[in-house]
Amino acid sequence: MLAALLYGKEDLRLEQVVEPTPAAGEVVIQVGVATTCGTDLKVWRRGGHAKMLALPTLFGHEAAGQIVAVGADVTYWQLGDRVVANNSAPCMECFFCQHQEYSLCPNLTWNNGTFAEYLKIPAPIVKHNLLRVPDELPWELAAMTEPLACVLHGVARSHIKPKDRVVVLGDGAIGLMFVAALADTAEVLLWGGNDHRLEIGKKLGATEIFNYHQIPNIPSVVKELTQGWGADVVIEATGVPSVWETAIACARPGATVNLFGGCPRDTTITVNTEQLHYSELTLKGVFHNTPEYVRAALALIASRKIPFELLISEKRSLKDLEQVFFDMKARKVIKVAINP
Ligand SMILES: [Zn+2]
Ligand SMILES: [Zn+2]
Repeated sequence: MLAALLYGKEDLRLEQVVEPTPAAGEVVIQVGVATTCGTDLKVWRRGGHAKMLALPTLFGHEAAGQIVAVGADVTYWQLGDRVVANNSAPCMECFFCQHQEYSLCPNLTWNNGTFAEYLKIPAPIVKHNLLRVPDELPWELAAMTEPLACVLHGVARSHIKPKDRVVVLGDGAIGLMFVAALADTAEVLLWGGNDHRLEIGKKLGATEIFNYHQIPNIPSVVKELTQGWGADVVIEATGVPSVWETAIACARPGATVNLFGGCPRDTTITVNTEQLHYSELTLKGVFHNTPEYVRAALALIASRKIPFELLISEKRSLKDLEQVFFDMKARKVIKVAINP
C-alpha cells in the first residue's frame, strides 16, 4: 500500500509498504479520510516528537474509515463498520489511570500512520478509544474527533462560567475549535494573525476578532474591553512561549489561564510572582485528551450543531501530501482532508 513515512526534519516520503495485518485485539481500517493537524506540522518541522513517535515512522494521527480486518479476540467489531480511532489510549492500570487522570498516563499507546491506505489500530485503542461513526457523517468530520477531544478536555479544565469573557490566542484549528466549543456559553475574543482564519472564527461564534499584526498590544486592548480588569479566562493555543506570557498578562484577578499550546522543548517563561499571588491566578497546563472527551467530541461533531467543515480548507490526494505540508507551513490552509 501507499503510505507516508517521516524520516526527519521536513523529510516526508511516500513509499510502498506492506499492508498491515491485525494481531490479537487489533483491527485494520481502510482510511476514508485523514485530516492534517497543527501537531503534524510541528512534528514535520522539528523532525520528531519526544512522546508520540520514533523515526522513521508512519505518519499522521487523525483518521476515520472502514474496518477491513479484525484480529483474534475482537468480537465487538465487524468488517465494514465505520469507525474513528483516537491516536492514543491510556493503560487503565497505572497510578494516574487509577486516579482517572488518563492524559497523564506514562504508558499511553500511541498510533501513527493515518496518511496511508490502511491503518492498524493497536489493541488498547480498539478497547478504549475506537468509536462507531454514524452512517451519514462524512469521513472528514469524523476524523476531527481527536483534536476536538483535546479541546473539550481543555474547555472542561478552564473553569468557564456562563457569560464569561474568554480570550482565545491563536487562530489555528485548535484555537478555532475552542471558539466553536465556547461560543454558546461565553463571550469569546479571538486573536490571530490571519484575516481569513479570523473570519472563520467569527462564523464559529467569536464575539470579536483581532489581527495582532494590526493591534499588537493584546493585554491593553483586552483590558479596555473589560472595564480595566482583563479576561475571566484566557486560552493560549499557539505553543509560543512569549504568547504564554501574553496570555497571563491578559488575565483578570482570579482568572484561569489555560496554557494549551505545547511549546518547544526546554523553553521557559517568566511569571510575575506578585501578579500570580495577589491576583490569585490559576495557570493551568492541559495536555491531550481522555476517553470521556473522545466520546463527547464525536457526539458533538455528529450532532451537526457546529459547522466544523469550515475548518477543512481543501480535499487533496495522498500523493499531494508533501505540498500540503508546505501549504500548512505557509499558513495557506487550516486543515486538509487527505484522501488516500
Ligand atoms: Zn491532531
Ligand atoms: Zn495509565
